[in-house]
This record gives sequence, structure tokens and C-alpha cells, in this order.
Amino acid sequence: MINRFHFIRAVLIFGLVCSLPLAAQRRVYNLPDLEGRLTLKCDLHLHTVFSDGEVWPNVRVAEAWRDGLDAIAITDHIEYQPHKAYVPTDHNAAWKLTEAAARERNILLIQGAEITRKMPPGHFNALFISDATKLDQPDFLNVIEEAIKQGAFILWNHPGWKAQEPDGIPKLYEIHHQLLEKGWMHGIEFYNYDEYYPLVLEFCKTYKLAVMGNSDMHGLISEEYIKSPADHRPMTLVFARERSSESVREALFQGETLVWFGEQLAGREDLAHAFFMKSITVGKPFFEDAKNRFMEITNHSDIPWQLINGVAGAPAAITLPAHAITRVVIAKTFTGALEYDVKNILTGENTVLHGIL
Ligand code: ZN
Repeated sequence: MINRFHFIRAVLIFGLVCSLPLAAQRRVYNLPDLEGRLTLKCDLHLHTVFSDGEVWPNVRVAEAWRDGLDAIAITDHIEYQPHKAYVPTDHNAAWKLTEAAARERNILLIQGAEITRKMPPGHFNALFISDATKLDQPDFLNVIEEAIKQGAFILWNHPGWKAQEPDGIPKLYEIHHQLLEKGWMHGIEFYNYDEYYPLVLEFCKTYKLAVMGNSDMHGLISEEYIKSPADHRPMTLVFARERSSESVREALFQGETLVWFGEQLAGREDLAHAFFMKSITVGKPFFEDAKNRFMEITNHSDIPWQLINGVAGAPAAITLPAHAITRVVIAKTFTGALEYDVKNILTGENTVLHGIL
């Protein structure tokens, strides 16, 4: 029989424990660093009430902290303030209001703004600027020139956004070629919010630009990217020498980035290959019988890898779940190298990473 006193006491204690304030927790990602480089998790395209976003700037810092990000840029539209009847126009407001909060939370805050035009040229983020008010000018090229004077990294946003390109395919117009010739375009968004543009990988290869992926969030991050507990906002992984804004800037100008979205990765083949190889350990065979050799492959990362197109004699496909060891059985008659295409690492419009384990 249940002792009534003990039962009531247990209920009271349970209630007390449940009512203790839970400290917010910062998420940890398992993504390998590259040789001599740190893998910094960045979202460099965000909005607040100072343009058409729905949140106060500090919320972006709090979200970034919870999401375990290293760097963010708040990039309110220069030309579009639908809330201006209630929120005054101040293109530097988000920066001024969050600079201290970001420092307190160990987030690298990069000053930015979104330059907003019809296609062509479309929308551009100017990152690492020092005064966004000077970007409030009618002539597009003058705006970019001013941003460049301030040392900006110029990012072409969502080039295949259907509101501007109904077929969803990014196109390089005359004005984009002009920017490229002047060295005034340094990166392109391959991934934006919930869509991506495979052709961007080819543009980035041809013109040696950084491949970028950002949330372009207007509302709350916590209301998006919630398909599973492992879901996360799209991010640009920046391979920086150290964890500083200056290093992020240097790496961006060198195109040292990959984009992580859902369970996929995209970007430059050399970086993708290095990242993939750093994320796994291929063990030596630990046992063999008359027919087969048995070995283990460990995936230390948060990204499950899908290996396909195995050569004859080796397993045709291997899935390496995140944070898990996968047992691989190979016929003793097979003596070649284990070569695979990694289905979820995109390196071009129609290509995926090919790797030898
Ligand atoms: Zn935007």
C-alpha cells in the first residue's frame, strides 16, 4: 500500500524540481577542424525589426549562442523598413544594440547590411563594413564601391530566388560580370533559408568565390529547422586560422568555406575531401575468416555519410551514421582501394565528392 505521506512528499519534491529555472544550453556540434584551421560555424544573413524581420537584434545573438554558432552578421535591408512607423530607420542600429551582447556571449559579430535591388543585380550582403548609413545611395555600383572602400566582403544573396528568377536558376547578368571584373563580388549564397541553387557551385569554381549558406531568418530560428532533434539552421563553415573576425574575413576572401545544410555538405572539392577524411577513422581489418575481412569505420561527425558506387568486389554502398561505428565486410578476393562517391557531399552542379578511404 502506498504511504500517503511519502506519496505527497514525492509529488511536492517533483514539483519543486520541475519549477527550478533551467539554464539555457549552448549546442555542441561535432565537425572536424582542418589542418591548421578551425571550423567556425557562421550564419551571415539575418534580419531584425530594423528592416523586415520580426525580432529585436539581441534575439539574434541569443539564438546564435543557443545554436552553438561562432559568428553571425545581422544584415538588415538598407532600402526596406516596413516597420518604420514604429521603429526609426537607423542602418547601424542592430550593430550598436548587439555589439556588447555578442562579446558577452562569445559570438563574433560581423557588421553587415543587405543592399536590395530588383534582379539584376538582386540582393547583396556587404559584410565587415564600418558604417551602413553610407550605403544608402541610389546608384548600385556607387553603393558597392562605398562598401569596398570600407573593406567589405560582397556576397550575392539567393541568386535563384523564385520571386526574382521564376525558373529558380541563377544567371550571371552583365552587372554581375562587371562586379566580377572589378573584384567586387566575393561569395554567392548556394543555400538560403530552405532552398539551394546547384549552379552556384560552378560559378564559385569558375570565379574563385566563397560558397555560402545562411538562414536569412526574419522570424524565430526556433520555429524553423525543427524536422528532427538533429536538425540545424543552414550554415557557412568557415575554415579560419583562429577564432576571430579578422580570421573569418581572411578565410572568406580566400574562399575557404563549405556549406552545411540538413544532412548535406557542399563546396570546394579539396576542402570537402579534407573535411570528410578528418571526420572518419578507417580501422585496420580486425578479423578474417575463410571468405571475408572485417573492419570498422568510425564517423566522428554530426553528418551521416552516404557512400555509393563502390567498386566491384567491395560493398556497393555503405552508410556511416553520425557518431557511430559501422562494420564493413569485404571479400578477401578484393584487394583494391575502397573508392566511393559520397552522395551527400556536393562539389558541383552535377558532381559529388569522390574519395578513397
Ligand atoms: Zn535577406
